[in-house]
Amino acid sequence: MQPTPDKNSKYRVGTRPKSGLNKGHKFAIAAAAVGLLALFFNSLPVPEPRYEGDFVVGPVTVFQDGRFSATPLYVTVDDGVISAISPDKPDLDVPFITAEGGTLLPGLTDAHVHTFDNALEQQLRAGVTSVLDMFMAPELLKAQLKAQSLGTVDTHSSDHGHPSVASVTQDTHQLAAYQRTVSTQATLYSAGVLATAPKGHGTEYGIAIPTISSPEQADAFVRERIFEGSAYLKIVYQSDKAPYKRMPSIDRATLQALVDAAHQHGLKAVVHIADQVSAHDAVSAGADGLVHSFFDSPIKPELLHALVERRVFVIPTLAVYDANIGGTLNQRFSQLVSAARPLSRREQQGLAPLQLNRLMPPNLLQNLYANVRAMHNAGVVLLAGTDAPNGGTLHGLSLQAEMLALREVGLSTEQALLAASRTPLRQFGITDRGEIAIGQQADLVLLAKGDVWQQLTKPLWIWHQGLPVNLQQHQNPALSAGMLVDFSEQNEVTINTEPTHTGIPSGSIKTSKGFASVQTDARFGGKSTVHASIVVVNEASVGELNTEKQPVGVQSALQSSHVGVQQTEQTVQQVGTKTNRALQLVTRIDQSTTTPWAGFSWVPFEQFNRAADLSEASQLQFRIQGDAAVYRLLVISGEQMQPVSIDIPVTTSWQSYTIDLASKKGIDISAVKVLLWSAPVNPGHYQWRLDDIRLED
Ligand SMILES: [Zn+2]
Repeated sequence: MQPTPDKNSKYRVGTRPKSGLNKGHKFAIAAAAVGLLALFFNSLPVPEPRYEGDFVVGPVTVFQDGRFSATPLYVTVDDGVISAISPDKPDLDVPFITAEGGTLLPGLTDAHVHTFDNALEQQLRAGVTSVLDMFMAPELLKAQLKAQSLGTVDTHSSDHGHPSVASVTQDTHQLAAYQRTVSTQATLYSAGVLATAPKGHGTEYGIAIPTISSPEQADAFVRERIFEGSAYLKIVYQSDKAPYKRMPSIDRATLQALVDAAHQHGLKAVVHIADQVSAHDAVSAGADGLVHSFFDSPIKPELLHALVERRVFVIPTLAVYDANIGGTLNQRFSQLVSAARPLSRREQQGLAPLQLNRLMPPNLLQNLYANVRAMHNAGVVLLAGTDAPNGGTLHGLSLQAEMLALREVGLSTEQALLAASRTPLRQFGITDRGEIAIGQQADLVLLAKGDVWQQLTKPLWIWHQGLPVNLQQHQNPALSAGMLVDFSEQNEVTINTEPTHTGIPSGSIKTSKGFASVQTDARFGGKSTVHASIVVVNEASVGELNTEKQPVGVQSALQSSHVGVQQTEQTVQQVGTKTNRALQLVTRIDQSTTTPWAGFSWVPFEQFNRAADLSEASQLQFRIQGDAAVYRLLVISGEQMQPVSIDIPVTTSWQSYTIDLASKKGIDISAVKVLLWSAPVNPGHYQWRLDDIRLED
């Protein structure tokens, strides 16, 4: 494929704002910032915005144009772009970074991901500086394209959703926000909404998406995707002759029309297939690439020939397939990682064998690897992609597992690195990054001396567009002990429980730490209901409300035989007319969804899915009272999307619970995202009350 002119680049070399400041001015601004020279600050000329990213790496071995350099080199980065590569030390007044005997790789590219939560942060911290997304929510795509551009993003332009700059910013705040995005998130390219049949694959994730059912709709469908910022078209297709059928699929004529429409609009068309017959149809229809390989049967010579002849690339997604058909790639990969460094709990969970519903016939695994080996031997272009965060994969790290699998089918170290850096970008027409060459974005990964694959599990430095990535951000912010929500401090109100478009009415509950809301499964299409209010409770009738008089000790909690659940009956004490307030919920569970819930939720940060480290305060305490039944505490943590459910037996009198979250199987205490108190799963109305939610160490 011929590289196209660099019109898709985020910005052209040299267009980043240059500093108008000298060192003296910088010092003066620092002083002003601490309030010492406020008046002087006002008299300073307005500083021009300045893009960071000037440094030299070297002398190190450089992976350049598919080879490791024979001698150590210096790589110079100017304004975040590689400006020189030389064996001689440059005479420049910029920081020099080196690693004795180390290796400099280009930033990696994952050719098949799905972006939500903090996917782009996880990718970047593993050295993945670019991702090719194969289906995500259009609203999120729009927001991300804006965040990763320096000016306004015109997704209607011919750039097809590639991050582009309509105007270079002169705004310091805008530049700071942009640099924050660059230094924390991988660059996203995305298919946006995939093309699938009504009720087809892709419609099952709870995101309402448009579908397509006839060839006549293809052109309009593609136009809409371009309008939303899609950089290429992803099509989901299964032949009616496929050996196994999962969900409805578009027919072959619609597949053909979509591929043609994409090409007419200058987009690449890639196809999700999962079997050989469907792969054959996709190649015949003119697809540019297949986003999966297949394992239902050994690849036939005619398909192999067609892949080579038509230069169709394949993203085999070996890692996700292997994990889902009973392979042991993740175990082999975990051994590679643990030879270099300990695995975190998140990594152990993410790479653990999946619980498969049935035993897989061994020939599937054999077909999988034999087919990809045959493709490689025949010269089919293979791109490394993980399909993260599907089961058995982790954003970022699993790209290294995919490269291990590619090496096992015959790719050399150099070939595997190319398949996970430059090649996928070029196949998708992205030319400004992906290799260590003059004029390229400075997406770089510096490794210590030693085996490249082991060192890649613990990079020394990662730069994204010349900005260093903070590798210490692995740790989530820690939360200390203390009150989370005390309803006695709230006003008596009825809480707004009208579901918004996300189903989370927020901001209506005052918290001491974190953010709280009343919610239901409505955001996932459920029909459970909740009504909530802050009510005055009569202390005399409900018992002792001041838990500080009878603190629930950590010791007694640990000694409890209730596997971490401590239940303390409160004695009723007459306290006259003193009143207290609590949250009162009236809930009704509708069991039509897989995980029905209705109740009260607490998250550590305003952004949903930001995790907190509760290691220092893992004892969750709260008081609860209501219609007698077994209620549930749902905890979402780590990379698990499914909550861990803890039974909470509730009675009509107030009880205090202490739950040691750290001791619960499946909870990653270093990454707690959501605590959710939910009504019993049984149908019917339940009235219950909750108060004094706190963390103790
Ligand atoms: Zn996928």
